[in-house]
Amino acid sequence: MAQLILNAISKSFEGTARAAVNDVSLTVREGGFLALLGPSGCGKTTVLRMIAGFEQPTDGRITLGDKILAGDGRMVAPEHRNMAMVFQSYALWPHMSVADNVGYPLKVRGVTGETRRRKVMEALSAVRLEPYADRRPADLSGGQRQRVALARCLVTEPDVVLLDEPLANLDRHLRQEMEETFREFHARSGATMIYVTHDQAEAMALATDVAVMSEGKLLQVATPEEIYARPEGRLVGGLVGQGAILSLRSPYGDRRNLDWIAMQAMMLDLGQGVDADILVRPQDVELSSDGFAVTVVSVLFEGERYALKLALPDGQVLKAYTRLPVKVGDEVRVAIRAGWRL
Ligand code: ADP
Ligand code: MG
Repeated sequence: MAQLILNAISKSFEGTARAAVNDVSLTVREGGFLALLGPSGCGKTTVLRMIAGFEQPTDGRITLGDKILAGDGRMVAPEHRNMAMVFQSYALWPHMSVADNVGYPLKVRGVTGETRRRKVMEALSAVRLEPYADRRPADLSGGQRQRVALARCLVTEPDVVLLDEPLANLDRHLRQEMEETFREFHARSGATMIYVTHDQAEAMALATDVAVMSEGKLLQVATPEEIYARPEGRLVGGLVGQGAILSLRSPYGDRRNLDWIAMQAMMLDLGQGVDADILVRPQDVELSSDGFAVTVVSVLFEGERYALKLALPDGQVLKAYTRLPVKVGDEVRVAIRAGWRL
């Protein structure tokens, strides 16, 4: 296994005005689990397909260890990249047992007998399906079938596993179960994994690193904790976490972490400083008599709390949580305990 490096890769499809992928550079560390996060159409699948070898970059270079996969006039065919790709729809052979489905890629490669049997059982064990080896896919649940598809891609011991929104069609309960499976699969296999998703919660829960894309460009790469605490720019700030973004004037120069005193001064708008986008997370907005007045514009009961949208006098909207019942139209006072300048 080795480090995967994308070096300034771009992809323009013929007859389209804008590049689908535009100058993306990214290093995926060996054994890392990278989530590629961004809205639909931002170029995630195209990046994945270039890594897998199904698309040739218009520009740039892709290397795995010291091997050039694409670029500098070279293009290694997908079957020679030792990668595996898992799609949303995982086609299993209905007439074959689970073990035969998992062993199929080995059969194609001429691996036989005891070696094949052992590798199949190892792969099934990585997804905790050993007891199901002799069943047919039809006798499994949706989640189990997807685990068979994962085992099948693990069995060839790929250097890199590529997953394109594999949970997008599943219901919430099954998604949670599968997130657990992916995490465990990654920990046990030690494979380098790249996971495409448009769901920020999924990206943060699964990955060791998150790369955020928008309109073909890479905006930020960092650990989930880092990207949550210190997002760069309005696009990442709006995509990660449930925050609201306020446009305020900041007299604090380059300062990015803002406390209640600073937030209060900015809310009072002294007319000084520069225009700034301030990210405010709902857990940092507290109903408090020493705060400033806002109007409740919506209330959503979430079981353990109410999620509120609150309008400032100038119409900008904040989000907050509370355990107290409030009504739309109520005037309440809030203190903002923390803000992050984007
Ligand atoms: P995502 O996976 O983030 O939803 P895609 O990588 O599928 O985004 O697509 C990025 C952009 O490239 C989109 O505008 C899409 O329409 C365009 N695109 C993707 N594949 C092709 C193709 N084969 N030919 C032309 N345009 C394409
Ligand atoms: Mg896609």
